[in-house]
Amino acid sequence: MRVLVGGGSGFVGRELTRLLQAKGHEVTVISRQPGPGRITWDELETRGLPLCEGAVNLAGESLMNPLRCRIDTTKTLAQAIAASPNPPHSWVLVSGLACYKPSLTAQYTEDSEWTPFDLFSKLVKEWEASALLPDSVAKITKQVVIRSGIVLGRGGAMKQMMLPFLLGLGGTLGSGSQPFPWIHVSDLAGIIAHSLEHRVDTPSPSPPQVLNGVAPALNTNYEFTKELGRILRRPTVFPVPGFVLNVLMGSERAAILTEGQKVIPKRTLESGFQYKYTDLTSALKEIVGN
Ligand code: NDP
Repeated sequence: MRVLVGGGSGFVGRELTRLLQAKGHEVTVISRQPGPGRITWDELETRGLPLCEGAVNLAGESLMNPLRCRIDTTKTLAQAIAASPNPPHSWVLVSGLACYKPSLTAQYTEDSEWTPFDLFSKLVKEWEASALLPDSVAKITKQVVIRSGIVLGRGGAMKQMMLPFLLGLGGTLGSGSQPFPWIHVSDLAGIIAHSLEHRVDTPSPSPPQVLNGVAPALNTNYEFTKELGRILRRPTVFPVPGFVLNVLMGSERAAILTEGQKVIPKRTLESGFQYKYTDLTSALKEIVGN
């Protein structure tokens, strides 16, 4: 299969590229920078969609930056798919969990109803809406949205989270009781590949299929902190109070770290996807070594 991956040069994209190539697929990355095995976003807009059977968008700046570029790149790729005389059979967008309202008790599956309640949830709504294909194309192209939790791997968010732990300054964020929805990067890449490869009989035109990209274990920030400290053999005695994060980052951004959602990957499991890392211990041991 030929797969076009927007943002394929990034943390998740590199893992996805490795996995798809190992499975014998051919990957072309869409990037802001030209290079071998790449096309640029400008080329996509001017020349149209290259021939491909699968398309994915992973382009985005760091979690803490505005989501605008995610919406713009998603719209550009969706428009190129819609305008193509040979649209791919699968189109996968990786979005986030900010659509689910943080709560210590509520549990969310892909079937949970939600309406935007803050800046980030409004942006997720717009982001996912920008991926929608017109009905005529949705008859041919399966649309999948994977709502990803915090991606754990050698890079990405872990890189920033590890430093205070290695210095012996790791600690819970806020109360620590907030859910910590996570996924190992290799499983997120696996869910994307699974979505691309499995042609399912969908109603015509097919509505976007939503999959929660989280591990099935429900952990809290406290459990993550203690487990990472234990595996690194470092103390985790310094909690970072919520008000400090509010002052440093502003309350809306700090909330990403001090609040969380209990998210269940109901449809991901029903789809037959087999996780490699279902618990924090095995995921963290793989990332930071035994
Ligand atoms: P990265 O931060 O590694 O970025 C991916 C790629 O996006 C970069 O390599 C870059 O490609 C491209 N990019 C960055 N800024 C822009 C911009 N302003 N305009 C166009 N392209 C840009 O992301 P991840 O791999 O960590 O995440 C992939 C997707 O998953 C993102 O959309 C992210 O929001 C989402 N996600 C990630 C989570 C995580 O914990 N990592 C959690 C939940 C969702 P280039 O320089 O080649 O143009």
